[in-house]
Amino acid sequence: MSRTEGRTALRQQLEGLAENLHWVWAWRVPAIFRTLDAEGWELSGHDPHAVLRSLDDAALEQKVGRASLRSDIEAAVREREAYMETQDTWGAHYAGLLHRAPVAYFSAEFGLHESLAIYSGGLGVLSGDHLKSASDLGLGLVGVGLLYRDGYFQQSLDATGRQKDTYAHLVPASRGLRPATGPDGAPVRVAVETQHGAIHAQVWEVRVGRIRLFLLDTDVEPNDDADRSLTWRLYGGDRRTRIRQELVLGVGGHRALRALGFEPSVLHLNEGHSAFAALEATAVRMEREGLSFEEAAFETASRCVFTTHTPVPAGHDRFDAGLALEHLAPLRDRLHLDDYGLLGLGRHHPDDPNEELNMTVLALRMAQRVNGVSYLHGRTSRAMFRHLYPDRRAHAVPIGHVTNGVHVPTWMAPRMRRFLNERLAPDWFRRLGHRETWIPVRDIPDEDLWKIRGALKRSLVRVARVRAAAEASKRGEPPEIVEAMRNALDEDVLTIGFARRFATYKRAALVFQDLSWLQELVDHPERPVRFVFAGKAHPADENGKRLVQRVFEASRDPRFLGKVVFLENYDMAVGRLMVQGVDVWLNNPRRPMEASGTSGQKVVLNGGLNCSVLDGWWAEGYDGLNGFAIGSGEVHRDPQLQDARDADALRSVLEGEVAPDYYTRDGYGLPREWLQRIKRSMTTLAWRFNTDRMLMDYAERFYLPAAGVQLAEARQ
Ligand SMILES: *Cc1c(COP(=O)(O)O)cnc(C)c1O
Repeated sequence: MSRTEGRTALRQQLEGLAENLHWVWAWRVPAIFRTLDAEGWELSGHDPHAVLRSLDDAALEQKVGRASLRSDIEAAVREREAYMETQDTWGAHYAGLLHRAPVAYFSAEFGLHESLAIYSGGLGVLSGDHLKSASDLGLGLVGVGLLYRDGYFQQSLDATGRQKDTYAHLVPASRGLRPATGPDGAPVRVAVETQHGAIHAQVWEVRVGRIRLFLLDTDVEPNDDADRSLTWRLYGGDRRTRIRQELVLGVGGHRALRALGFEPSVLHLNEGHSAFAALEATAVRMEREGLSFEEAAFETASRCVFTTHTPVPAGHDRFDAGLALEHLAPLRDRLHLDDYGLLGLGRHHPDDPNEELNMTVLALRMAQRVNGVSYLHGRTSRAMFRHLYPDRRAHAVPIGHVTNGVHVPTWMAPRMRRFLNERLAPDWFRRLGHRETWIPVRDIPDEDLWKIRGALKRSLVRVARVRAAAEASKRGEPPEIVEAMRNALDEDVLTIGFARRFATYKRAALVFQDLSWLQELVDHPERPVRFVFAGKAHPADENGKRLVQRVFEASRDPRFLGKVVFLENYDMAVGRLMVQGVDVWLNNPRRPMEASGTSGQKVVLNGGLNCSVLDGWWAEGYDGLNGFAIGSGEVHRDPQLQDARDADALRSVLEGEVAPDYYTRDGYGLPREWLQRIKRSMTTLAWRFNTDRMLMDYAERFYLPAAGVQLAEARQ
């Protein structure tokens, strides 16, 4: 082989790895790109395409040679091929039905990787993890979403802790996205008509392992400027922007699938944003089969799964009648409904003309299978929507639950994965959702477990120092502060993490209610504590921004300098860093407002422990020995009283249980109780709260029965 061909082959191999997002959880690959160009990797926000663009063939060849990467690259290519080609999957064995006609999974956000900022938080990360596990399990499923070129904002703080929001504009072709093409090979375009003209969209395709994700993008001719920027920002703009985005997602998304040649067996609406897809599906059925609205809606509903995520009435998406009719008039006509008939589908009380159209209510009426995202959230949802089912008691309202999980290969540190490779059964990675898989964790020698926990925490401390110091110097803080950040945290000290959206119900500042107590906690002579915080407030949420500022100010209080650290720009990268390194994950939402929460599940996989209010997943995960509970699940009507009680409970568990447990050592310097708790956490929680288990639940309980309707029909 000539040198030129050799070089080109190398580039082809690397481009091949980059073009499918499988690289994100193929544990060797991120390290390969980082090694090729560490600076370019960081500056581009971990984008392998940027790394490849920055190196010409000669430089690439030289770097690969110098870092002895060739065998790693070859192994990665082989592993990718084997992954893509295997027929021996759970889905092939147990869900072959879905290979004939896939599930169409609709979501307004997808959190697949930090370099594709089309997610804002938990909902998006859940959708991303859903696709990844669907790929791992070999399920027949396609994703539908929107391509936000500006994405969600990037956060930086000024020297006073005020949040600044900036947006990085993405050029799809430079990120390895390609135009989705139909059966005739031409790029697919869709148009969605409104009362005043149509909105046009092009469709991009992202490969996520074996799964294809289609993203609609309105930045295209002949849209006017307003519509071209319609899909730029996630959760930006006003109500009008929002309903137009949701029209493109639901109606446009459904049309895109048909144009691409898909006839989905099941529609899965992840949250209410995409509920218009069910109306479009109904209209198509009426047109094709000559059915009435009632008949067609019944057929659609039997194939429609709706997952609700919002436990408070104010959180549901709503549109006033004028805005709704402006956008739904064409659908109304195709559905042979009048205004009241159409709007009534989305009203709690269909004959109340003053009510807005509620996307959750619409989805509930259009889907036969509905679930909340934890046991507790299922119960909350049954109570909240009871009036929609007047002939039923609250417990019999047809809303169940499938508890959320996380995608193990995305969130488990590669080092922990190698560690468990040596200690669990050889095929453990293909059996993540089974209880037996994790049982051997019990037999891991304490010394080994303690050692790897130490190593993971050291990585966190090292990276957090570099980031915190760089952020401080960028915002022009004094040299003493920058220096304090360089020495912040301590690998020998109990380290507590808190990272989430700074929505007020998550109460990021709860631990700061009593600063003299906090000072005693962090400076305890035998049992000191450190805190790492991260989180974004929505750009329009002033209260959230004030909370960010409050945490930042505490981190600059001389009593807490270097002991309470705030990291900017909470995204999946900061998330991985934190969940892999901290000893304890703090979660103190106002119950029952956290529908599930998933960040704590990521911590479990890395041997950290949860300390949480008994809300969302933790209400069913906590068993008294596998972590810590804040309070005992009581709810007070008065939020101030609730906050005061929970703050008390938080203080008492941190100083009375968490710190003493961590610092009680035996003659070998090992915290035996703590290590027992970690083992208990991993054996009781990891198998239940991951997306492989979640996808198997969705497949068995919802997808297969819904798809079976179709099969039964075909047999007739
Ligand atoms: C996992 C994750 C979330 C969800 O966490 P919660 O527990 O629901 O707060 C949000 N944002 C990012 C970046 C995550 O990785």
